Amino acid sequence: MSEIIQEKTLQEIIRSLISNGKTVAGPMAGTNHRYFYKAVDSSDEILFDPPGMPMNSIKEFVFPRREVLYTFQRDGHDVTLTEQPVLEREQYIFGVRPCDAAANAILDPLFAWDYNDQFYQQRREKTTVVTMACKNIDEHCFCTSLGLNPETEQGADAILLDLGNGEYEVRMFTEKGKKLFAGKTTPSEKTGHAVAVPEVKFSVETVTDYLREHFDDPIWSETSLRCVGCGACTFVCPTCHCFDILDEGNSMFGARVKTWDTCQSALFTHHASGHNPRNNQAQRQRNRIQHKFRIYPDKFDRILCSGCGNCTRECSTSLGVRPVLQYLTEKAALVTKEVSS
Ligand code: SF4
Ligand code: SF4
Repeated sequence: MSEIIQEKTLQEIIRSLISNGKTVAGPMAGTNHRYFYKAVDSSDEILFDPPGMPMNSIKEFVFPRREVLYTFQRDGHDVTLTEQPVLEREQYIFGVRPCDAAANAILDPLFAWDYNDQFYQQRREKTTVVTMACKNIDEHCFCTSLGLNPETEQGADAILLDLGNGEYEVRMFTEKGKKLFAGKTTPSEKTGHAVAVPEVKFSVETVTDYLREHFDDPIWSETSLRCVGCGACTFVCPTCHCFDILDEGNSMFGARVKTWDTCQSALFTHHASGHNPRNNQAQRQRNRIQHKFRIYPDKFDRILCSGCGNCTRECSTSLGVRPVLQYLTEKAALVTKEVSS
């Protein structure tokens, strides 16, 4: 048996959350036919099935672009540090792409590893994620190449599957998901499924094996020729998580803040001495791919990528990771052929 919910009941849930002071977010239309995950003021603003992929990801709801860690105030020789409340209101994100939700699950072990990041943990705890099984995909999607799929439960508290005629099947995966939909669904024989499933584009095992054996390799120069080092791919990526800690203000008062950073910037590894261990774009691209597909999996047993395709979709030269991985897979096949002939 499945559980189904009527569209009007779903809208009532959202309206009730908003009127009870919760933060509610979902995909919204922006300018120029672009879509973004944003907090909404009304349930009508959420597009459960936007015709295009949101440009950003939901990572910014658990790992904001800029977050104040504490403020400081000096009075003579005394300094007062004031901690900031992390997140006071619960937040609910609806209509999330399953790959965006999966990215949260991929990041969870990182923020609880050598340092238990209370900012991330508290936001995760107070955030409920409701995904929508995919109805629209494009040529950049490749979740299935990474062992995920458009109905995955990873990182989601519940998923909606469109049954048509204003009905959705609801699958609840966590206590938060069950609590959100408690008493709002009815049992049914109907089951939904993702109607759009990307084809498998490469073998991730081949990629990982190739990366292990080819740290120094011409592919890094070849593939990065069209990279301008803007970092857009990392900012739209749901799994990229580099950040910097900065002090804003002056010697009397100010704030210590955490802000997103990007490994694609030349300044990212620039030492105070002037030395830069990654002094060209090929090295920076190599670092991004090696980290996502070899180093992070070696440490956390998870690939640091959900196959959302944002990095290619939003790159001004359509680079991002998928074209590099496909090129690398072709090279790996050539290497295998050479060895066996
Ligand atoms: S791959 Fe594209 S988005 Fe990423 S840094 Fe290079 S040019 Fe910018
Ligand atoms: S690397 Fe690209 S495809 Fe993978 S999660 Fe990040 S933006 Fe999505």
